[in-house]
Amino acid sequence: MNQLFETPIEYLKGTGPARAEVLKKELGIYNFEDMLRHFPFKYIDRTRFYKIREINIEMPLVQVIARLTSKEIIGEKHTRRLVAQVQDDTGVMELVWFQGIKWVEKYLLVGKAYIIFGKPGSFNGKAQMAHPEIELYSPEALKRKGNATLQPVYNSTEKLKQYTLDSKGLQKLTAFLIEQHYKDIPENLPPYLINKLKLMSRADAYRHIHFPADAAELNEALRRLKFEELFFIQLKLLRNKLLRVQKFRGNVFDKVGHYFNEFYQHKLPFELTGAQKRVLKEIRQDTQRGVQMNRLLQGDVGSGKTIVALMSILLALDNGFQACFMAPTEILANQHFQTVKGVLGDDFINIALLTGSTKQKERTKIHRQLEDGSLHILFGTHALIEDKVQYKNLGFVVIDEQHRFGVEQRAKLWRKNVVPPHVLVMTATPIPRTLAMTLYGDLDVSVIDELPAGRKPIDTLHFYENQRLRMFGMMKEEIAKGRQIYVVYPLIQESEKLDLKNLADGIEVMSREFPLPQYRLSIVHGKMKAADKDIEMQRFVRGETHIMVATTVIEVGVNVPNASVMIIENAERFGLSQLHQLRGRVGRGAEQSYCILMSDVKLSRDGRIRLETMVRTNNGFEISETDLQLRGPGNIEGTQQSGVLDLKLADLAADQQLLLLARHTVEEIFEKDPQLAHPENHILHQAFMSKKDGLTWDKIS
Ligand code: ADP
Ligand code: MG
Repeated sequence: MNQLFETPIEYLKGTGPARAEVLKKELGIYNFEDMLRHFPFKYIDRTRFYKIREINIEMPLVQVIARLTSKEIIGEKHTRRLVAQVQDDTGVMELVWFQGIKWVEKYLLVGKAYIIFGKPGSFNGKAQMAHPEIELYSPEALKRKGNATLQPVYNSTEKLKQYTLDSKGLQKLTAFLIEQHYKDIPENLPPYLINKLKLMSRADAYRHIHFPADAAELNEALRRLKFEELFFIQLKLLRNKLLRVQKFRGNVFDKVGHYFNEFYQHKLPFELTGAQKRVLKEIRQDTQRGVQMNRLLQGDVGSGKTIVALMSILLALDNGFQACFMAPTEILANQHFQTVKGVLGDDFINIALLTGSTKQKERTKIHRQLEDGSLHILFGTHALIEDKVQYKNLGFVVIDEQHRFGVEQRAKLWRKNVVPPHVLVMTATPIPRTLAMTLYGDLDVSVIDELPAGRKPIDTLHFYENQRLRMFGMMKEEIAKGRQIYVVYPLIQESEKLDLKNLADGIEVMSREFPLPQYRLSIVHGKMKAADKDIEMQRFVRGETHIMVATTVIEVGVNVPNASVMIIENAERFGLSQLHQLRGRVGRGAEQSYCILMSDVKLSRDGRIRLETMVRTNNGFEISETDLQLRGPGNIEGTQQSGVLDLKLADLAADQQLLLLARHTVEEIFEKDPQLAHPENHILHQAFMSKKDGLTWDKIS
């Protein structure tokens, strides 16, 4: 481990025990590395001089050149202050000091020009600066200022300020640290990479991110440090993948047999899309190699991921293995079970559903059949991977809508068989490529980028409250055509009471507008018992009710092809991927479908962008990119638990090119030197030996 980086902060000259203590408490700075990595959050541009007329109170610290026209000490005791007037060719400004009055007063000479630096304020409608830094103007002074160009500004706290560790104080400490130890800052990339990629050295990068001469130098420093951050994540992910391949064998599915062929020839209800066929081929190739498959299947809502998963399972069955199919909710598990049962028929394959509401007797039977191998496919929620569920020979696992499953739960699966089962993870909606590369960087990725033929794009409309009557009209027309409708209300935990009230009000409005016996409503919300939800869902699925009024429990996966309208109330309160997922519940049949987004007239900027994006496009990949840009990677559903996204500098939305560069660089390295055994890669190999490297490695599975 590097000595410099690990040196406790107490040992930095100028720190001492008391300051060290507050640095630890307030900023989590324990050692030299932490100090170096307490990056400025902004810089002050001292290259540019502003005219008085240009400045306003919104601005950060700025500098001005102006001539002193008057000075005066006024007030008594507490209100005693020095007030000076300056002016340039555009306007007048007042400067004021409450402290150090005597000294400043001597320094100020009427008629002389000064370089004035401070935070613009205003007093009585006039431009003002309190306690600015001032320096007598001279060509030399100007030149000196021109050298000290970008000044770093650091986060500090009130507590730190008591120890004179405000931004300035922190800057001094950092400057000192770099001055003293510049040459000890260890390089962690091999020279050949630095040359090839034209990167700044690590020592220079740390120096210049704190004290850049200009914007170009700052950008180079940032590029180097961001690259490093992304590079080591990719190095670890891809090495993990390599290790897994070396360590675990995989079941070989080399037969295509009765189950697959029978299904393909006689039971498959439609022609597969080109994309579905391609992905099946990828999975087939992957499962024949004797290596455990870990594959992420990305596809837009309604692209037909389920059938691909099912056909992969049939391959497993043909090779003598069992399979399980996990869904995030009971409703979905049940639905997958019913769908598969529907297409397979009753006497083809033995399948079962295991959820929290499965009766004990049925449960016992399932357990027995799993152990003796007579049960082929088990559907359910995470209950499927509880320790007491034992399989005879689990060979294939499908995880639908992955983001609801924790990484730990995924890991449990691995212990289900001597040779771990192949795993196919499916996403609910597409996630941006850069995010996938980081979150699931050690998985292989398949993409279904084609919707089944004959789908009409969903028509999405954004309505305000005053258009509600029009909405009712559209609903009635669709019902008259024999179609069904979803009406969804938000359910966000922090305000559950309010949400339930919204739902209750909504139900009342809908019941009044759509009265019995002409119209029938199904109602599903989170507070209902699973069995009751199920009954309501089934009534809707069978077409016995016209309108399904629900909270977001129906968000993912629900498949009722006859439903043609999705109405989302308070749409501004939903996230983009959630809106897209909900919209994906319609447009599953051949007829034209609609999505109506109801919102308040008052919208936040982001809320407006979300709704506009929904109206503009049906493409889930495009939507996920916008989502990433709006919310940042840390807020995309399912990413919170992942340590890989603790990026300090890089931004997965803004730094896509750099991420791709890091990824490709790592791929190239492993292609040539999978063990990192070459002397030139020694330095990279060492990265795995160090315990503390800022990455929570265990969290990446
Ligand atoms: P998702 O990818 O969102 O999970 P599903 O697997 O639920 O999508 O499929 C959506 C609908 O499309 C289902 O009704 C399914 O039967 C149908 N479907 C899937 N593949 C095809 C295809 N190749 N041709 C026609 N319909 C298809
Ligand atoms: Mg699905």
